[in-house]
Amino acid sequence: MSNQEDRLKTLIGHAKEYGFVFQSSEIYDGLSATYDYGPYGAELKNNIRQYWWAAMTKLNENIVGIDAAIFMHPTVWKASGHVDAFNDPLIDNKDSKKRYRADVLLEEHMAKYQDKIEKETDKAKKKFGDAFNEEQFRATNPNVLRAQERINGVEGRMKTALEANDLVGLRQLIIDEEIKCPISGTANWTEVRQFNLMFATELGSVSGESSTIYLRPETAQGIFVNFLNVQKSARMKIPFGIAQTGKAFRNEIVARQFIFRMREFEQMEMQFFIKPGTQQEWYEHWKTKRIAWHRALGLPADNYRFHDHIKLAHYADAACDIEFRFPMGFKELEGIHSRTDFDLGNHEKFSGKKLRYFDTETNESYVPYVLETSIGLDRMFLAILSAAYEEEKLENGEERVVLRIPAALAPVKVAVLPLIKKDGLPEKARAIIDGLKLSHNCQYDDKDSIGKRYRRQDAIGTPYCITIDHETLNDDAVTIRERDSMKQERVKISEVERIVGQKVDMKKLLRQL
Ligand code: ATP
Repeated sequence: MSNQEDRLKTLIGHAKEYGFVFQSSEIYDGLSATYDYGPYGAELKNNIRQYWWAAMTKLNENIVGIDAAIFMHPTVWKASGHVDAFNDPLIDNKDSKKRYRADVLLEEHMAKYQDKIEKETDKAKKKFGDAFNEEQFRATNPNVLRAQERINGVEGRMKTALEANDLVGLRQLIIDEEIKCPISGTANWTEVRQFNLMFATELGSVSGESSTIYLRPETAQGIFVNFLNVQKSARMKIPFGIAQTGKAFRNEIVARQFIFRMREFEQMEMQFFIKPGTQQEWYEHWKTKRIAWHRALGLPADNYRFHDHIKLAHYADAACDIEFRFPMGFKELEGIHSRTDFDLGNHEKFSGKKLRYFDTETNESYVPYVLETSIGLDRMFLAILSAAYEEEKLENGEERVVLRIPAALAPVKVAVLPLIKKDGLPEKARAIIDGLKLSHNCQYDDKDSIGKRYRRQDAIGTPYCITIDHETLNDDAVTIRERDSMKQERVKISEVERIVGQKVDMKKLLRQL
């Protein structure tokens, strides 16, 4: 097993053992690519959602939120292009019977060449030390240039094939590149076929085409069809945005990798309505804003990178991803898309209703352009969990597992621990919790040694533990221990709320934006 698989397996095990994420319907052996969030997972997920929602709606007076239904009129998905174009090209290996996305096979193939480039560069960096000129090395080293040429070649052919919907060409590229199935090790591939990712179901008791409805594959369309309702009722002026979080459903072909790719997941999307012609400027604006939102969390900066799309989706005139270094390597975490007037324009056509904005300053009426930011809440959860997880060797030779979750997002903010279960210490601990619980999510624990209790809190990422001992009954002071440094300090009980608050307040994150 590779290191990457090991790390993902460790995370999955930890997430289950400590109540973050469970396999759905586990007692029936689970349902593939569907997961349930446990007690700490639900808290963390809520906190991430809240951070996003506040960053959008509280910090921007021109962004408002909505909460649209999952079911929508079936024509919505014709207008949006999903009925005709929301397909993935799939291919099967005849020996292993495993199914793959043809484009993903090719992307992973290119990633191998990219890895070669990085390894070659690292090697040279070590060899030449301070004298190393990375830019020059990348531009001249024959091995790097050869690998880059291969990447460019595959990328070019893949783009042409995808754009022309040339499935034979896509398969030929896989054959020419001698891409093999990782399970069977053979290149015995079927044809490439298109597969629509929407889940369909029946409305009411009458079956037939007219009653087929879809589980929404993205939350964005609920925003588009409400564009005028929101603009008029909230008296919004362009430029303005509408934000929404909610479930989306996709019948993913290959749904592996834990909560990275699920069939039921949650999105946090914001559509920003702008004047046609200003999209480039807003595209740059939202790229800057969104990366700042990620950076404010304080996870290592080299975990993020931008990636421009090779093939633009059917609706976009510019698009990029913010990629994150997941345990499986760099993968898409968030998309930023310039969607032009594709959606509103098509909804005008299909509904026969005008979806225009009347600009009172210029006296013109137009279909606005749209800039979208779209992030998967579950992927963000996995990003945080994977960056936060650390097996740390301590000075005394022991080891601890600690989740360095950004304090404002931690499921439990403070654990209150009476040293022993008698002499009035539990009562004192409960009184302290009563004082804190309106501000912070608290947990009481009096089982096992203090050391073990600290470890349990480290494992769920609790920023502070406070211990009540006999002295507390006399001096109204407690020992407060900080998760990351493990430093302990004696402080007055009256100070605890302020100390914890300073560290865990979400305003600390929002102020950086
Ligand atoms: P991918 O290329 O990984 O399939 P996508 O480009 O289709 O993703 P978008 O349609 O741009 O994704 O969706 C926006 C965001 O929704 C993604 O950046 C991702 O965070 C999230 N997302 C999409 N599909 C899934 C899924 N199956 N499971 C979890 N999150 C998802």
